[in-house]
Amino acid sequence: MRTIPVTVPFVDLTLQHEPIQPQIEQAIQTVIQRGDYVLGQALSEFEQAFATACGSQYGIGVASGTDAIALGLQACGIGEGDEVILPANTFVATLIGVLRTGAKPILVDCDPHTALIDLAAAEAAITVRTRAIVPVHLYGQMVSPTHLLQIAQRHGVLIFEDAAQAHLAEREGYRAGSIGIAAAFSFYPSKNLGALGDGGMLVTQDETISATMRALRNYGAPRKYFHTDLGTNSRLDTMQAAVLNVKLPHLAEWNYARYQVAQRYDALLRPLRFQGINPLQNQSNLGHVYHLYVIRISESCPVSREEIQHELGASGVQSGIHYPIPCHLQPAFRDLGYRVGDFPHAEALSQEILSLPMYPGLSEVHIDRITGILTALIANRLSFKVSA
Ligand SMILES: *Cc1c(COP(=O)(O)O)cnc(C)c1O
Repeated sequence: MRTIPVTVPFVDLTLQHEPIQPQIEQAIQTVIQRGDYVLGQALSEFEQAFATACGSQYGIGVASGTDAIALGLQACGIGEGDEVILPANTFVATLIGVLRTGAKPILVDCDPHTALIDLAAAEAAITVRTRAIVPVHLYGQMVSPTHLLQIAQRHGVLIFEDAAQAHLAEREGYRAGSIGIAAAFSFYPSKNLGALGDGGMLVTQDETISATMRALRNYGAPRKYFHTDLGTNSRLDTMQAAVLNVKLPHLAEWNYARYQVAQRYDALLRPLRFQGINPLQNQSNLGHVYHLYVIRISESCPVSREEIQHELGASGVQSGIHYPIPCHLQPAFRDLGYRVGDFPHAEALSQEILSLPMYPGLSEVHIDRITGILTALIANRLSFKVSA
């Protein structure tokens, strides 16, 4: 069998690093020379810079986005006996983070047009035990801040943002990370702002939560050898923070490049809407930071998602599915008691979504090629049907 060379990868991080590689190397050298590898100067600098960029006050760097959620919820006082509401269609780390606190996760369905948490369903799920809603700003688009704030106020529940896919996203005049009691970010390499390895951060405006979080990530010690909480070892490496300090000033420009890629996809895919292919809705214009570009291939489409993905692959174009199995149907979480049919929109989306290549620097030629493959595939199928 002939192997097809990858001509359009799903993400290309080298493109992003090449022009700033000398600065990255310099930043790493500085850390080596200073020797402050754990909780060092570059980390404090990055925590301050990133929190400010999010329109928040305190940043606490941790080892991953998952830890930012788990320890962050814990720092907000959430634990056993509490209920936490989150969407069924998120990356499992959101659910893992909630479960690690000991709280009971309450999953809800999503809006079929945006794939964001259905806030009417979230509000309906609130009980006397509900402590927090965890909106996931999925694919780079914020869940409506005004709607979230209304719900929080009406019911006295906390908003804890999972902003792992939404660095600098905006909506309705708010920025991701600034609307809740706290927000979790991930710096996994392929996120909009990525380290050269794992990393995460909690941002908050609350001084007490910030102090608790600082202790939790450092063995539960607010000061050396004095332990007030059952913490853990989860710090963002100084080395990674140094790299992120170099990358942060480019983030807005990279996000805009993503937006432009999305605009071109939108325009070129528009004619296919009559054949059942639709991008997920952008309800926040330039505020959508397009961590992923996701299309929906509905049942009315003459070509199946599997065929489309196969055809793209045969032409060297990588694509992905985020995510193929919603959280409530994952074997690991069977004990939560959910079943097929519980969240129809999330389940339908998992069968119909496809993520196309998306990264700053994805060329127009490549975008045209990808949309051209989709268009030709459908045109061929339609003419075949007519002649058959
Ligand atoms: C990436 C991601 C996480 C987890 O972040 P890690 O750094 O990989 O632990 C959590 N939630 C969402 C929505 C994510 O996309």
